Order: sequence, then C-alpha cells, then structure tokens
Amino acid sequence: MIDTKFDIAYAAGRFDLSLNILDGNPQLFNLMGMESYYSLYKMLPDDEQKKVRTATAKCLETPGLQCDECVHITVNGKLCCYILTITLSREGDAYDIQLINVTNTENRVNELNRRINTARDYIALTGVAVFAYYPETQRFYLYYVNQQQNVTIFDQNFEEWAAQMLGENRISVEDMEIFQAFCSTLRSGKSSQTYTFHGCIISDANILERYRVSFKPKTYENGEAIVIGTWSIIHEATGDADANILEDSYVDSLTGLLNKKSIMKYAEDALKGKNREHVALAIIDIDDFKSVNDNFGHMFGDKVIKAVAGVIKNAVGTTGVAGRIGGDEFFIVFEKLSEELEFRNVLRCIKTNVAIQYQDQMERKLSCSIGLARYGIGPFSTTYHDLFKIADRSLYLAKVKGKNRYIIYKPELHGDFNIQNDEDIINVANTFYSETDINALHNMLTDLIVYGIDSITEVLDFFAHVLTINRVSVFLSDSGAPAYTNTLPAGVPMADPSVLKNIKYLYLFTNDLLAVSNLQSLEFSTPEVYQLLSETGVACFMQYILRDREGEVAGLISADVFDRSSAFPKIALTLFADMCRVMNAVFIRDNLI
Ligand code: GH3
Ligand code: MG
Repeated sequence: MIDTKFDIAYAAGRFDLSLNILDGNPQLFNLMGMESYYSLYKMLPDDEQKKVRTATAKCLETPGLQCDECVHITVNGKLCCYILTITLSREGDAYDIQLINVTNTENRVNELNRRINTARDYIALTGVAVFAYYPETQRFYLYYVNQQQNVTIFDQNFEEWAAQMLGENRISVEDMEIFQAFCSTLRSGKSSQTYTFHGCIISDANILERYRVSFKPKTYENGEAIVIGTWSIIHEATGDADANILEDSYVDSLTGLLNKKSIMKYAEDALKGKNREHVALAIIDIDDFKSVNDNFGHMFGDKVIKAVAGVIKNAVGTTGVAGRIGGDEFFIVFEKLSEELEFRNVLRCIKTNVAIQYQDQMERKLSCSIGLARYGIGPFSTTYHDLFKIADRSLYLAKVKGKNRYIIYKPELHGDFNIQNDEDIINVANTFYSETDINALHNMLTDLIVYGIDSITEVLDFFAHVLTINRVSVFLSDSGAPAYTNTLPAGVPMADPSVLKNIKYLYLFTNDLLAVSNLQSLEFSTPEVYQLLSETGVACFMQYILRDREGEVAGLISADVFDRSSAFPKIALTLFADMCRVMNAVFIRDNLI
C-alpha cells in the first residue's frame, strides 16, 4: 500500500536504515528500474554513496533534521542530477527520501552563466563601462569588466553620485546642461537616450575625457524596473570608443591583472558587501626578485612578473580577483572560499606552479612568499585596513621563516598581530639631541667602516651615553653571550638573544627594527619573550636583526633601558637603525657573520 504522502510529482519513498527500499510512489519505482535496484546506494557513484551515508548518519542522530544532497543517477543512459532529501521517519526505523530531478535547472543555469560570460567578454572587448540605475531605490552602479570580473567604478545612491560629480568639478563647465539632462532623463526611468559630454569621471586622472552614455529602461517579469546603459570613452579624433583609457585606468599594463588602485577598491567594496564573511586577502611577493633582475636583466624580470601573474590568475580562477600592487607584489581578493583547505589548495597551486616558471633558464628555482588573512579570523579582522595588515604581517613572517612558503594567519598559531596597538609598540615622539652629539656619533660610525670593528666598544659607549641607554649588546648568534657590549657596571644582568628563536616575536619587527616603549605591551602577544626580557631587567628597548650575506638571521643588536618605560623619539630610532646597519655591513665585510 503506497503512503498517500508519496502522491507527488517527483520520486519519493521510504527506505530502511540500510537504504533498501520499503515502499514508494510509481516515480520512485520507475527511477529504480522497478525491481532491478533494491538499494539506493547501488544507484549512486562511489563518492556520492559516501555523501549519502554521512547524511543518513546525521539524520539518525538528529530526528527531524532534513539533509539535502546533490546526486547523479543514470536514467535511460543519460546522467541526471537530482536533489536527494532525507529525513528520519517519525518512528525512527526508516528514512523518508525524495528525489527531485534538477538536470534541466542545472543546464539552464549553466546556459545562463555561459551567456553572461559571453556578454562580459564582449563588454571587455569593446572597452565600454556598463551601468544600471534602479529607479525604485535610486541605486546607481557603474562598472567595468576585466577578465570576467566586474570592477566597480561607482556603486552608490544616484543623487549622491551626481552631487559628488558636480561638487568635485568632474563635468566640464560647457557640458553642464547636457549632464543635467542626462541625470533627469535617467531619473525619470522612462525613455531611451544617448548623451555626449566631457568630464573626468572615469579615469580619475584630471584629464578631460569625452563620454558617450546610452541607456534604455527595462521592466523585468517580476516587475523590477531598471535602466541599463553603456558608458564609453570616446576618442576625440576618430569618434570611436577608446578601450585603452579604461584599460589604463583599471588594469596593470604589464600583467593584465587589476592595478593597485582598482584591486584595493575591489577589496574595500567586497569587505563592505553582503558576502564579506567569505572575503580573504592574500599578498604575494616574489622571493629575491632583485637577483633575477640583476642576473638576467630587467626585461627578463618583466617576463617573470608576467608569468607569475598568469600562474596566480589561473590558480584563483573564479574564486576571487587578482591584482598587482607593486613591482613583484600581487594581491588576491578571495570571495568564494570558506574552508581553510580550499585556500591551501589555491596557495599550494601558486607555489608549485611558480617554481616551474623558467626553470630551465635559472639556476635557482623561482619562489614566492604569501600571507593570507581571512575575515573574522583573529581579533580586529573585519575591515580592509585590518585584513591588509594581517596579510602583510603574515607575508613578512613567511619571509622571515625562510621564504618559499605561505602563511594563513591563525591567532592560535601566530599570536595576536596587535593590529590596533601599533602605537604601543613603536611609539614615536619628538625629542631633541644635540647636533654635536649626532655628528660625533656619525663620525665614529665612519671610523668603524674605515678601520673595522676595533672601535666598536667606543661606539657602543658613546651611543649609550647620547641616548641614555643602560645596556647595548651585539649578538652574532641566537644564543650565548654577546660578542660586544658597552662598558657595563658590575652586576648588570646579561641580555638574551634567544628571542630570535621566537617566530611570533620576529613578525613584530618592521624592516628588521623594533622599538618597544613598554615591555608590558608584549605580555599577551608574546608572553615567552616578555618573561625572558623581564628577567634581564628591561623596561623598554630597541632591537635590530642582523643578517648575513644571504639575508638569513645572523644576530641581534639590543639597546635596553632598565629604569623607565618611555617612548623612543624618532631620532633615537633613526640613530639606532643607522648604527646597526653600519655594524651589520662591517660584520659581513669582515666575515664575522
Ligand atoms: P624579497 O625576497 O625580500 O622579496 O627580496 P626581493 O629581492 O624580491 O626584494 P623586493 O621584493 O623588495 O624587491 C622587488 C624588486 O623588484 C625591486 C625592483 O628592483 C624590482 N622591480 C620593481 N618593479 C619592477 C618591474 O616592473 N619590472 C622589473 N623587472 N623589476 C621590477
Ligand atoms: Mg620580492
């Protein structure tokens, strides 16, 4: 006897806990080939059997829960796509299952996507921007298509936008009336029109451009009214739409990826949008790119940049948008991934494929370092500013750890990146040092360069005197006693260079320099370092990482103050950094590191 609840248009039935059929409607028996299949599992490919097994286990565990899975079943020799819906029966001894054929829907969606992509490609080829105006909400959306991605130029209330354009004098005075006419026709949402006027609206470069805007109103089946239009930049001499201007404004000419301005704007918009929880930002920097330029020339360097851009673009696919933000620096805005494994897969793909670029022509394999920050992972990780900083610090960490790697930021692994507390760490005030002292210190550094390290204690003593620093230690490794110090009174504890082994701590350095005005600020971010430094009597300090010829960490210079927690003035930081850089160079030259 068939249950009346199966009396529906699609296949439905009841299965025992091993998914053997108990009863069902004719559609279900039709689908299962009448008696030829007894178990639902037998109809499914292996990987989908697993999926369904997991879903049944979930339903068994939570009565009332409904699980939907997409499965594929071959019907009359054709693979069809079904949505399989499972719930545990009220008695708890069977599953109610429905199978809805969505093959046609899937095909229709694919076809629509294909058409949308073709339209996008067409728009990109003709080099026009496209806009939409929604009379009901007054939303105005002007965008440009690059590699099948919409690059937003404006997305705001139309009245605000028009006022902004006028307020910023971005419409030529002669064409003001035409612009006003364009605005009022668009506002009315009733007729199709074309207007031509001059302004500097699109490329933002203060160069007067000639625009041709054409639009027409449309009402969709669901009653939604919209005015859609094209916005072209017209070449003054030929009267043709000039695709290059648009390209130049939004696209990096070497790589074809978005340029810095537009990828950053894209990221900011994505982080303000509805889908922001899925946004992640990655910064990629080619390792030792200067040596590629040095050894093979700038032209070859350009080819490498292009090849890396291609690798990035392919790996990212439709999961995000990529841009170039510096010489050898790239940026990705991910929007469609949510699992860490998915991010890893993309980043691994980039790392692996970068390594095979030009491998026949270069002695050392090409590599890159990547830092990635995800929305909502870690404190202060929701705004563009926050995420960029986290990604940047993760990249820095990847470089410090030895390059050729990616770091996906996780607070439990990398600590709190102290995004909001930068001021605590490098607190700069203006203080005055006597010019005589500064000149004297510079002269001593010059002597160090000329005569070698013999005078190093003298330099350290003078530096400590000028900056009222208690202890300056120079370490040429990450453990043991310092190689050089200023003259210390008896009983002063030794500094400890093993902080260099703490990777979380190293990310706090910027350009190998760190100034901490109050040791307490490290208590939570790097408790081990806090402990270590408190034991050596430090209240505030400046440190500099020494590097060997290969750029590997080789030692540390630490300037420590015992009795006061105070900010180091900017000039102190500069003097310290100058001294350390000179010493680092001398150590390398004299083969001490
Ligand atoms: P690191 O591993 O620390 O990143 O070292 P690096 O040598 O890659 O150093 P960095 O990233 O700081 O330097 C990037 C270099 O890229 C500096 C500059 O000489 C070079 N560069 C910048 N723009 C271009 C460009 O458009 N073409 C070429 N060929 N080189 C560029
Ligand atoms: Mg680099």
